[in-house]
Amino acid sequence: MLHFDDIVFGPIFSRRLGSSLGVNILPSKGKLCNFDCVYCECGWNKDGRSDNRFPSADEVEMALEEKMSRASSEGVPVDSITFSGNGEPTMNPDFPQIVETTLRLRDRYFPKAKVSVLSNAVLVGRESVAEALMKVDNPILKIDASSDMLVQKINRPVGTCHLKDIVEALKRFDGNFILQTMFLRSPEFDTASPEALGAWMDIVRELRPREIMVYTIDRETPDKSLEKYTVEEMTAFVQPLLDEGFKIQIRG
Ligand code: SF4
Repeated sequence: MLHFDDIVFGPIFSRRLGSSLGVNILPSKGKLCNFDCVYCECGWNKDGRSDNRFPSADEVEMALEEKMSRASSEGVPVDSITFSGNGEPTMNPDFPQIVETTLRLRDRYFPKAKVSVLSNAVLVGRESVAEALMKVDNPILKIDASSDMLVQKINRPVGTCHLKDIVEALKRFDGNFILQTMFLRSPEFDTASPEALGAWMDIVRELRPREIMVYTIDRETPDKSLEKYTVEEMTAFVQPLLDEGFKIQIRG
């Protein structure tokens, strides 16, 4: 399974993001998340708990400053800075401060670079987390499942988690976020059944995200019974939303 040992890694070059720095503000040796998704590329929570020390705001600042100043002096471009890594970044208690620092360093070294955060949105009801997410260029927030029952089957929350609370908290973004949704099925569930799809579209219409990214399984998953969807199938699922003018990226 995929694990990041460094706080800042890259830059990695991709056609989609250009030259991208990754930031992991989770423990370096194991996964830590308030979800335990059946498809998580970092594996199951139970297999990654040997290390649960979050890097502090100071440690992240040092790592970022070192990487960005070196890239800048060597003429290496940085087009984007993306928080992803070994779990859920908003769980780091210093997350709001880390966002401030990242934006400040971005402005100093690579003012055109976009800062993105990939989050499962479980903690968006927390004022400080929501405010920090609203400051970055791209808050990419996940809703895979359109009912609490599906959340339990797919995302397997560690504590109490109600979809309606997440949706309620996301209304504060006033559409200024990117919704990320994984389409997949197993013998246990199907996120694209007519009922699940209809409920998901209702959530989309309620939240009106400025952009939607739908994707499917790509790498090895901890649950081996999962099946992916094709780009053609996902395009058909979201066609009504495309017709209504939603901007949707579809990745197979
Ligand atoms: S939210 Fe992300 S990091 Fe957490 S379990 Fe799901 S896929 Fe893994």
